[in-house]
Amino acid sequence: MASNNGAQAPTPTQTQVLVVGAGPVGAFTALLLAHSGIQVTLVEANSDVDSSPRAMAFQPCALAELVEAGIYDEVLEHSVRDAVISWWRAGLGAEKKHVATIATKEGREPFLTGLNCAQSVVTKILLSHLAKEPSASIHFGHRVVGVVEKEGEEDGDGDTNRQVVVTLEHTLPQPKTNHLDEVEVEAQAAEKNQTLQTQIRASWLVGADGGRSTVRTAAGIAFEGFTWPKEEFVATNVYYPFEQYQYTNRNFIIDPVHWAIVAKINNDGLWRVAYGTTPNLTDAQIHAELPQHYKYILPGPGTDYRLERVSKYRPHQRCAATFRKPNSRILLVADAAHLNNPIGGLGLTTGILDAGPMARALSAVIQRRGPESLLDTWSDLRRRTWWEQTNRQSIEFERIAQQGGYGLDPSHIWDHDEVARERGMLHHIAHATPDMREKDEALNEALKVPENQRAARRRVWALAMPPDWMADFEDSAVVDRRRKLRPESCQ
Ligand SMILES: Cc1cc2nc3c(=O)[nH]c(=O)nc-3n(C[C@H](O)[C@H](O)[C@H](O)COP(=O)(O)OP(=O)(O)OC[C@H]3O[C@@H](n4cnc5c(N)ncnc54)[C@H](O)[C@@H]3O)c2cc1C
Repeated sequence: MASNNGAQAPTPTQTQVLVVGAGPVGAFTALLLAHSGIQVTLVEANSDVDSSPRAMAFQPCALAELVEAGIYDEVLEHSVRDAVISWWRAGLGAEKKHVATIATKEGREPFLTGLNCAQSVVTKILLSHLAKEPSASIHFGHRVVGVVEKEGEEDGDGDTNRQVVVTLEHTLPQPKTNHLDEVEVEAQAAEKNQTLQTQIRASWLVGADGGRSTVRTAAGIAFEGFTWPKEEFVATNVYYPFEQYQYTNRNFIIDPVHWAIVAKINNDGLWRVAYGTTPNLTDAQIHAELPQHYKYILPGPGTDYRLERVSKYRPHQRCAATFRKPNSRILLVADAAHLNNPIGGLGLTTGILDAGPMARALSAVIQRRGPESLLDTWSDLRRRTWWEQTNRQSIEFERIAQQGGYGLDPSHIWDHDEVARERGMLHHIAHATPDMREKDEALNEALKVPENQRAARRRVWALAMPPDWMADFEDSAVVDRRRKLRPESCQ
C-alpha cells in the first residue's frame, strides 16, 4: 500500500480537474476520473494520510461503488468481513443486556455485506492505485489557500473555456528540479521564512477537503443545518476481547449517558469504542472520565484493556446549499458537502455515494459525452437524498442509541428548548417524544423477524443514486452490472 514517502513530481500549472483533499473521497474521486483518462491532480495539505480514529464501517451501497472501481477485492483483504450488528443495553456487570442482532448479508450470492476497515487503510489502497495512473498526479504538502474563477474565451462550439485559478501553499520541502528559477525562489522564501505559494489553473475544481472545506468557503456556499450544542463524541481505539462476550463485529450500546458504538476495526484485536461526553472537556478530563464510561460499555470485567488512541470531535448535521456552485466549475463532495453524526456510519458511505456518480458525470461532461446539466441534476439529487435520508436516518440512529425523548437525558440533548430553537434544531428532533419508548421497544421486538431485518437492510440503499440516473450517457452493460450489485427490490 502506498503512502506519501516517495519524492513528488513538481506541481503542475494546469490540469483538467483539481481534486482538493487526499482523504478517502478525494482519492476515490481522483481514481475514477483517472480511470476515464481525465488529467487529474490531487492536492493534500498534510504530509501523509490522516490516521486519526475515524470511519471504519462501510455499508453495502458504498461497497458497490468500490466493486465498480475495481478495488473491492483488495479492500476486502484488509477488512473485517460480514458485518453483524447487535444492540445491547449498557449497565454495570450483569445489567448489560442483549437486545437484538441482525446480519448485513442479504439475498443471493455474490451479494455485498457491510464490512469494517479503517478509512486510512482504504485511502492508502486508493492512492496506491491512483499512483499507477498515467493521467494522475498526487501532491502532499499542498494546501489550497485561494480560489478565483476566470471567464475564458468562447470556443467554436459556443462553450467557454472557464477556469478556476487555485493558489497552493507548499507545506513541505519541494523536490529539487533543474529549473533554476524555482529553486532560487524556494531558497529565498525559506531564507525569509516565507511560505512558498504557486498557482494552478484547473478546468474543474472538486472540493473533497472535509468539513471545514476551504473550497466551499471560497465558493461562498452556505453550510446549512446545526451543530449538536450539548455533546461531544470521544472515539477510542482499544484492544479488548469483546468476542469472548458474544459482541458481534458492530454493536450499538443503548443508554442516555453511556450510549456507545463498539466495532471491530481489524483482525488483530483492535476495536473502536465511541461514546458521548459533555462539550469542551480537556484531554486530561477525557482520560479521567474514560474508565467510568468503559465500566458501563465494556462486557466482562471491563478493566484489562489497552488504549491505542483517543480523540474527541463535535457532531454536526449540515448540508451545503448546493454541491455545484451555480454556473461554475466548482463541485463539492462528501464531508465538504455534508456532515452527520457518525452513529450508524453514514458519513464516508454517503461521501463515496456522491463521488462515484459525480466522477462518472464529470468525465462524460469533459469528454463531451453528456451535458453540463448532469452535474446540476447530480447536485440536486444528492442534496435531496441527504436531507430526506441521511440526515433523518443518522438523527434517528443517535436518538435510538441515546433513548431521546424518554431516556434520562441529563445533558438535555433532546430537549425542545430555547437552545434547540436558536440552533434551528426543533424540526429535526421533533420526533424525540415520550411515546418513542413504546415504538423503540416494538422495533427491537420487530427486528427479530427476518422480513423486518430485510427491510432494515434495504433502507440503506435509499442513500444511493438510482443506478440508471444517467443511463442515456453510459454503456447499458455498465448500468446493468451496477443494478445487479443491489438487492432486487432496490434495482
Ligand atoms: C470518530 C468518527 C467515526 C466515523 N465513523 C464512520 C463510519 O464508521 N462510517 C462512515 O461512513 N463514516 C464515518 N465517519 C465519517 C467519516 O470519517 C468522514 O465522512 C470521511 O472522513 C469523509 O471523507 P472526506 O474524504 O470527505 O474528508 P476527510 O477524510 O476529512 O479528508 C479531507 C482531506 O482534505 C485535506 N484538506 C483540508 N483542507 C485542505 C486544503 N485547504 N488544501 C488541501 N487539502 C486540504 C485534509 O487534510 C484531509 O486529508 C466517522 C467520523 C468520525 C469523526
